[in-house]
Amino acid sequence: MRRRSRTVKVGNVKVGGTSPISVQSMTTTDTRDAKATIAQIHGLEELGCEIIRVSAPDMASAKALKEIKQNISIPLVADIHYDYRIALEAAKYVDKLRINPGNIGTADKVKAVVEEAKQRALPIRIGVNLGSLERPLFMKYGYAAEAMVESAMSHIKILEELDFYDTIVSLKASDVPRMVKAYEMFAEKTDYPLHLGVTEAGGKFSGSIKSSMGMGILLSKGIGDTIRVSLADDPREEVRAGWQILKSLGLRKRGVDITSCPTCARTHMDVIKLSEQIERATEKMTKPMHVAIMGCSVNGPGESGKADIGVVGAPGKHLLYRNGKFVKPLKDEEIFDTVVEEIRKEQ
Ligand code: SF4
Repeated sequence: MRRRSRTVKVGNVKVGGTSPISVQSMTTTDTRDAKATIAQIHGLEELGCEIIRVSAPDMASAKALKEIKQNISIPLVADIHYDYRIALEAAKYVDKLRINPGNIGTADKVKAVVEEAKQRALPIRIGVNLGSLERPLFMKYGYAAEAMVESAMSHIKILEELDFYDTIVSLKASDVPRMVKAYEMFAEKTDYPLHLGVTEAGGKFSGSIKSSMGMGILLSKGIGDTIRVSLADDPREEVRAGWQILKSLGLRKRGVDITSCPTCARTHMDVIKLSEQIERATEKMTKPMHVAIMGCSVNGPGESGKADIGVVGAPGKHLLYRNGKFVKPLKDEEIFDTVVEEIRKEQ
């Protein structure tokens, strides 16, 4: 059962409560280059990115958020460290601030940012990261989940003392066991919605697996309200991986889900190439559909029978299924176009 968290609105996306678990990513462009950043965000939106975060390391970046916000349709989050003036500027344009109140200086500076967020109805994400723990907590606990939880609680206390509760929290570590423990401990203590992530998880292969493990453990226990897969790769891979995690657990549905066999000596068609081609050709489609691409008749008819569209490899001509029923035979060179056309008809 899903953990009961409060609902926080990020622009037009609700996070927490019974809202769908949303998929986020972060741009890799120079934020001052608004055009490049907008183009990257559009590419991510097409793949299902629902909230986008952008770093604002300086005032010029904060000012560029105005143009960025005007040209995108998903909620925009500004990621800010240390300088409260950047936060005040960014707050004019964005839908959420990612800022740790304990890191932006004196109480009056924190108050100024929090009052601005309140006035503009902007939520704040507290983002605790094991790699940047406050020194006293590191001295007390070392690199431990307990340190992350205590850090998050101290930032929350600052906000609550200013009567601010529209808060989302993340407790990210680059190793899965500590990340899982931190989220589990924190989830017991409060009802603030949780942004899940394994931070600095690595490249596409290892990072996707680490993120799936960490988030999968938590999501399967009902913990987590929004996710970001953090990869040292094109952020489009983060969105693809994020959706795959949610779809794999049956938490969200979106677009074409492909079942394909690993192939073996019985294979009668190039399942691996076809699966990849069909996945890429249909990745911007949004209507949920199940497509099976199977190499032979051992498991092919069973999987195709459960799918909306299926192809089973057979000697000579392959077998096209729709809604579990055989439709017609296909030659090798007809498979890709026919399957994509069948999928398009349903979108
Ligand atoms: Fe091999 Fe057929 Fe199974 Fe594919 S479906 S792995 S080709 S036995």
